[in-house]
Amino acid sequence: MLKLGLVRDIDLALHLPLRYEDETRITPIGELEEGDTAQVQGEVRDCRVEQSRTRRHLVARLRDGGGELVLRWLHFYPSQQKQLAPGRLVRVRGEVRSGFLGLEIVHPVLKVVEPGTPLPQSLTPVYPSTATLPQAYLRKAVDSALSRAPLDEILPPQALPPGLPPLRAALLALHHPAPGRPLASLEDRSDPAWQRLKYEELLAQQLSQAQAQAERALLRAPSLRAVGPDHLRGRLAAALPFRLTAAQQRVVAEIERDLALDKPMHRLLQGDVGSGKTVVAALAAATAISAGWQCALMAPTEILAEQHFRKLVGWLEPLGVRIAWLTGSRKGKGRKEMLAMVASGEAALVVGTHAVIQDDVQFERLGLAVVDEQHRFGVEQRLALRAKLGARSLESAASGPASSADARPGAPPGASDPPPLEPHLLMMSATPIPRTLAMTYYADLDVSTLDELPPGRTPVLTKIFADDKRDQVIARIRDELAQDAPDAHGGSARRQVYWVCPLVDESEHVDLQNATATHAELSAALPGTMVGLLHGRMPGAEKAAVMSLFTGGQMRVLVATTVIEVGVDVPTASLMVIEHAERFGLAQLHQLRGRVGRGAAASVCVLLYSGPLSPTAKDRLRAMAETSDGFEIARRDLEIRGPGEFMGARQSGDALLRFADLATDTALLEQARETAAWLQREQPQAAALHVARWLGSRQDYLKA
Ligand code: ADP
Ligand code: MG
Repeated sequence: MLKLGLVRDIDLALHLPLRYEDETRITPIGELEEGDTAQVQGEVRDCRVEQSRTRRHLVARLRDGGGELVLRWLHFYPSQQKQLAPGRLVRVRGEVRSGFLGLEIVHPVLKVVEPGTPLPQSLTPVYPSTATLPQAYLRKAVDSALSRAPLDEILPPQALPPGLPPLRAALLALHHPAPGRPLASLEDRSDPAWQRLKYEELLAQQLSQAQAQAERALLRAPSLRAVGPDHLRGRLAAALPFRLTAAQQRVVAEIERDLALDKPMHRLLQGDVGSGKTVVAALAAATAISAGWQCALMAPTEILAEQHFRKLVGWLEPLGVRIAWLTGSRKGKGRKEMLAMVASGEAALVVGTHAVIQDDVQFERLGLAVVDEQHRFGVEQRLALRAKLGARSLESAASGPASSADARPGAPPGASDPPPLEPHLLMMSATPIPRTLAMTYYADLDVSTLDELPPGRTPVLTKIFADDKRDQVIARIRDELAQDAPDAHGGSARRQVYWVCPLVDESEHVDLQNATATHAELSAALPGTMVGLLHGRMPGAEKAAVMSLFTGGQMRVLVATTVIEVGVDVPTASLMVIEHAERFGLAQLHQLRGRVGRGAAASVCVLLYSGPLSPTAKDRLRAMAETSDGFEIARRDLEIRGPGEFMGARQSGDALLRFADLATDTALLEQARETAAWLQREQPQAAALHVARWLGSRQDYLKA
């Protein structure tokens, strides 16, 4: 039960059924029909083990005066046979199907009963559970918790929408609905009892969000400003090989305004794939470094981190900045050296994967943390970044070596009593945050949007083909490779192709086979062309080698699993084929497609699908062909699928909203939001009690 977060009585009382079983009625055997899920009561006529060629079945026959029903077990214990002694009265439940001997139930739920044993008066709840926790046990635990839990109303009537039942009544109704209660409104959660719980939950969430916000408002951060003549920030801007777009200039200004304040920035930079977020991050980093502080940049995959690393090295090392590189695969001496550079402050910028937030990473003075593709990180990782890096910068400010006393305009005054400083936080994402989510989880998140692509991009043409057109697609690749793509400097570079294979059900093995087979197929079909393979199971060094051959242009075709999904930037790639496109989510397809169309050459994305498509898969592929606007795609994604995975781990097992659904409960959310502000102001005590009742020990999650 701990695993389910069921600690206090109130947690159990709030553990609501997924669905219900109707055990309030007994169906006469004569009225059973195939496909029914029914409860039957009758006398055991006989029970024996039937031996077929391959296995043993336990088969019993049940009689209720009106007819006979076969019960069948494919797996059984000897004790079960004893239980089914002829003449016993039993109550069974399960799905009726037609078998060799007439109607039967396979693996029924069975109870031996005395004549006259009463039927339950209400529907039987089925709770979310784990494999090892039996429903019967959970039901008992919930019932006894329900009788003990303090369920008095905390909220004043003014804080409640009209027409909703009191909390206790709502909970009793949901755990044990009366037989007449319409099941449909219980199961689709539109019942007033459900509304009450959703509202309670949303209110708790809004209140605790507001509290977290108030706490954050007290935090302090170093004020980061590039000052003095000839600072790094200015030199970087002058050295860039392109002019910033107007959108980039605007968001850079927004970010720099935040950095200059002495409270931590908490900003999301959202911009479609290819909109040029990296350079914005680089300028922010340069500002932090100009001010005498370190900057960390964290990316979700090694490939992406490496690409950032190279880009930043290219831009910043000529200007004299040392950059450290930290990933999971970097071990031993190399890692030690990097850690030393980070700890001494010699490395002004640290780029890496989540290895950046590992315990042994000590910053000398971290001023800015940038998280790329932030939705790919879990809540825990974001928390670690805030908490741990915050603590580090605090520690280092307290015990920083005397040698670090050289000109540092942003240095905190006096080492004796350091202010508790947090780093500024910049999160970047190509997936725009839906408004309801922003309202729910990120009430105090500032958002900057890059709504303009750098000039010179040609839109990607998207085509959809059934997999049996594969040969045509391969012929198309041959054509593509025969053409030259003009490069940015007016010269010509050769075109390149991605072929993406999906991740099948997290079974990396199958996934690998698929990619390997495609790699062999393309290598054979394209003699004289270097075709590479990239997948998640390859050692980091090998991945890096393949990536560098592809980036360098020697490798013309890259077969890859979704490891290339985020952030890979090879402007000469002009054709992408996505195999089994029907298995990808819309946001993911858009991310993938964003890998092409980054240069001047007209680019094409081919979506290959196989098999009959489900309606949602059809909708997704159609949406891809119709629009290339990431915001529009996100909107359609929300429509097709609901808010689902936008926020990564937040939506998974630890999802804070267990009952409310942001896609459908917007009206309740708006009300909860208004009420939260009122309640906090007028009755802070009730507000605190309500949050404690609902969130208990899970409040930390809200701070990520
Ligand atoms: P994303 O927002 O998807 O992370 P990137 O930062 O990878 O996009 O930028 C995509 C490409 O566009 C990179 O090659 C980058 O150097 C280039 N780029 C960024 N800004 C500009 C600009 N203002 N003009 C021309 N090219 C740019
Ligand atoms: Mg990027």
